[in-house]
Amino acid sequence: MDYSKYIKNVPNFPVEGIQFKDITPLIGDGQAFKACIDEFVDFAKEKQANKIVGPDARGFIVGAPVAYAMAIPFVPIRKPGKLPRETYSYDYDLEYGSNSLSMHKDAIVKGDKVVIMDDLLATGGTLEATIKLVEEAGGQVVGLGFIIELVDLNARNKLDKYPIKVLLKY
Ligand code: AMP
Repeated sequence: MDYSKYIKNVPNFPVEGIQFKDITPLIGDGQAFKACIDEFVDFAKEKQANKIVGPDARGFIVGAPVAYAMAIPFVPIRKPGKLPRETYSYDYDLEYGSNSLSMHKDAIVKGDKVVIMDDLLATGGTLEATIKLVEEAGGQVVGLGFIIELVDLNARNKLDKYPIKVLLKY
């Protein structure tokens, strides 16, 4: 399926100079959303993932349906102060601004095979932080899945040891 017609480009959002890729038309079309999730389910099955991890907040939208379809756990990676129990935390820079992410310490155990899902790969900072959290807990990252990759930002250089599934490149 050609997903590009479901992505809206919004110039200068949330700050001047950023071309924001809005995925809400894609998830707002039931057939397109299902087709997109099905592709990631195939990828996660092929990688033999036993857990899906997704960063706050759009990683939840794409990651949770994949976990549901496979009947495996979904692990949320959240902004500071949101998870109620003991966490691992990691600070990093974004394409715009900076952030810190946390994961419950018991969410991943040694030997887990994890596919990390997010809507969009920009600088790769969010993904690097998420990988660090999964690996600190003893998990093995067996794949990364994104709807969109912004190729000019070269995030792949940082992530080249992981298999990547992307539906659209800009
Ligand atoms: P990064 O850590 O730079 O790879 O940024 C990835 C995260 O920021 C993703 O979770 C996206 O939701 C969001 N993001 C970064 N840049 C954009 C963009 N140009 N359009 C839409 N979302 C973006």
